[in-house]
Amino acid sequence: MEQESKDFLFEILNTPSPTGNEAPVQRVVRKRMEKYADTIESDVNGNLICTLNPNAEKKVMLAGHCDQIGFMVSYISPDGFIYVTSVGGIDASVAPGAYVTIYGKKGEVQGVFGRKPIHKQKAEERKAMKVDIADCFIDIGAKNQKDAEKFVEIGDYVTYRLGVTELKNGYISSPALDDKVGVFCVMEALRLCAKSNLKVGLCAVSTVQEEIGTRGAQTSAFGIDPFVGICVDVTFSTDNPGYNEKKIPQIELGKGGAIAKGALCNPVLYEKLLQTANKYKIPYQKDIAPNVMGNDTRAMQVSRSGIASASISVPNRYMHTQVEVCHLKDLETISKWIAEFVKTLTSKSDFVVR
Ligand SMILES: [Zn+2]
Repeated sequence: MEQESKDFLFEILNTPSPTGNEAPVQRVVRKRMEKYADTIESDVNGNLICTLNPNAEKKVMLAGHCDQIGFMVSYISPDGFIYVTSVGGIDASVAPGAYVTIYGKKGEVQGVFGRKPIHKQKAEERKAMKVDIADCFIDIGAKNQKDAEKFVEIGDYVTYRLGVTELKNGYISSPALDDKVGVFCVMEALRLCAKSNLKVGLCAVSTVQEEIGTRGAQTSAFGIDPFVGICVDVTFSTDNPGYNEKKIPQIELGKGGAIAKGALCNPVLYEKLLQTANKYKIPYQKDIAPNVMGNDTRAMQVSRSGIASASISVPNRYMHTQVEVCHLKDLETISKWIAEFVKTLTSKSDFVVR
């Protein structure tokens, strides 16, 4: 991966964007994409829309959601401990013992989710794996409530402590690879198209509020009114002991984007995407989505009178924990796949299902 691209990826992974407060990461995306996009717009919900060829007759929308799961401060106890509620699909069982960052009015506050020492847990407590986030508490080292309130207030956003860990062989681990890798891929696809004299307009959108119901994609798709929409999000890989179900499509890290077949994927678009991948020898994996997928693909597909949509997913391990894992090679191959496909489109490309 080119150094400038890798720097961009790591910078967005190191920038907070809990659902509902995505502006910090959008500023990073905007700053980087100014070099490549013809126009960049922000909207009232916080979506960031980077466009090539804005006056083209027909447009393609690429969606990657920049929001990440997190927490919101709901209560500060008299002794200065901070209680939170979930923002998005938090797995509470991995919270105790984790480092967190609270985004306070006066800046970042570091904290830890405390936990009763194992020595003091009763046998039945050890057996009971179920953790309720309402029982978890964050310790910021405050002396008491008044002291804590100097730094933290009700409604402050919280994320797991951000950072990227490079593992062996091109694997990386970070909170919120879901779905900053998607933002990365759609922005990379635009970069790769930037000097290509596209015959269509290309809008790469860093969408907001996906984790609570694909709300940013819904409004940006309506505004852009594209004829094709491609979503890049993450999908569950089956290549690790944490999740290795056998009687489903086998999805592995490093083997390319997973394209989902099913009602949410326009069949003409699906075939054309496969043709592009085969032509350029881009690795891909076949996934299935026999029912509705809860990601931005759906929001695009049912916008206005319908958009020809497809979902290309980045294989991901340990989704919605603070140690999600993806493979750098998948990000490169997906970006190239989408860019080469967009270059084939003209205003006459037809995705109507007959
Ligand atoms: Zn996602």
